[in-house]
Amino acid sequence: MREIYPPHYAAFHCIAGACPDSCCKEWEIVVDAESVEKYQMVSGELGNRLRQAMITDADGDVIFQEREKRCPFWNAQQLCDIHGGLGEAALCETCRQFPRVTQDYGDFIEYDISPACPEAARLLMELTPEQWLLSENDCPEVTGSFPEYDGKIMQQRKDQRRILFACLQDTSVPALKQISHCLELVTQWTDFSEGTSDAICTEDDILSFLNGCEVLTEDWKMILTRARENPEVSLFYDAALDKEIRLFGMDMLYRYYLRTAYSDDPFAILLPVQLAAFAVCTVLTLTAHIKIQDEEQRLRIWQLFVKEIEYDGDNLEELEWQLETNAAFSPAALCAYFESVGGA
Ligand code: SF4
Repeated sequence: MREIYPPHYAAFHCIAGACPDSCCKEWEIVVDAESVEKYQMVSGELGNRLRQAMITDADGDVIFQEREKRCPFWNAQQLCDIHGGLGEAALCETCRQFPRVTQDYGDFIEYDISPACPEAARLLMELTPEQWLLSENDCPEVTGSFPEYDGKIMQQRKDQRRILFACLQDTSVPALKQISHCLELVTQWTDFSEGTSDAICTEDDILSFLNGCEVLTEDWKMILTRARENPEVSLFYDAALDKEIRLFGMDMLYRYYLRTAYSDDPFAILLPVQLAAFAVCTVLTLTAHIKIQDEEQRLRIWQLFVKEIEYDGDNLEELEWQLETNAAFSPAALCAYFESVGGA
């Protein structure tokens, strides 16, 4: 069994009380069945609180009922009462894992830390594109299950992903041009021809999609309101933004591209690249509308995109549907958008 890690994985530590966001607020915590069973047995006051807090949501998942948009166990010191009272091992799977992402392919596992967490996003954006090198360990104590993918297709996907990474790492060409090049490459690999299309993705298309989504956090609501209220567009495209686009793009392709090896649909490889391109469009549009030049504020937008869109099942499903069916979000239309903002 091989384990694969991105370069910033090992450096991650939860910064708890110093976190500008926290995964303990404005988010539904789903409790896994094993933890539900464990929490039913806890005695004392904490046991009573645990049993009172667990409710079943509309999807049939057991969740902790939020109190004032916060996890009911997140205390005034911004620490977790379950962790404090019962130890780290007692945390449910959601809390134990976040922001770690584990993708088990059977004979190899890829790990990442999700930029939905501000600290993980910060560590990612501190890298340079050249530092984006995956490391591999042999891990004999983890016995792999039989891989359920076609070996030839997986090899092809790995080769393709390497080419996409190389594009985004090549800093001799602006990042937006490279994102466009990635969209063109996957389009060629699918043998898909859009014919001659003059579709262009506009900022109105992007804002209209974002405004139609479910909103989880107050900060995202405020960002969208400011973008709506300020039609004046002034994009400040600097070297830091160029670097962020490359790193965010590689991280997203790392998490999503190989999963397409399970699909019989040859067009499946378009989606991860369109998803990364759409995230870039979102950050460009929002930073332009609210005139952000500050790296820290922009980092918050990258992070909230992941938290609001990728981590919300309904929002992600809707975006995937739009990317597949809406001409304004086709690969050619996204390339046209990048050209219109002057980077491609
Ligand atoms: S969002 Fe990240 S840094 Fe913040 S509390 Fe959660 S795991 Fe820790």
